[in-house]
Amino acid sequence: MHVHEFQEMMRRIYFHRDSERGTTGTYNWLAEEVEELGVALKEQDRKPMMNEFADVLAWLTSLANVVGIDLEDAAISKYNDMCPKCHKSSCECPLPKNH
Ligand SMILES: [Zn+2]
Repeated sequence: MHVHEFQEMMRRIYFHRDSERGTTGTYNWLAEEVEELGVALKEQDRKPMMNEFADVLAWLTSLANVVGIDLEDAAISKYNDMCPKCHKSSCECPLPKNH
């Protein structure tokens, strides 16, 4: 399944609810799911991690549907087989100091 197909599937299942909730409400859910992913990563338990990765992707996709952004187009137009900053297929950018 491609990203575009996943986004269309999520639209079929949830768009009626996502559009009613709106941009801010959907963004807030995404932010909450990112926090839950952070907790699952610290616990290093594989099943909860899988659930939270799925939720983050689902809410990111819902948010893209609410604002009418095609995630696959957005991702590929920025990350098209190379780093957008150094233009290498294996990034050679210097690591930021906080990494
Ligand atoms: Zn780079």
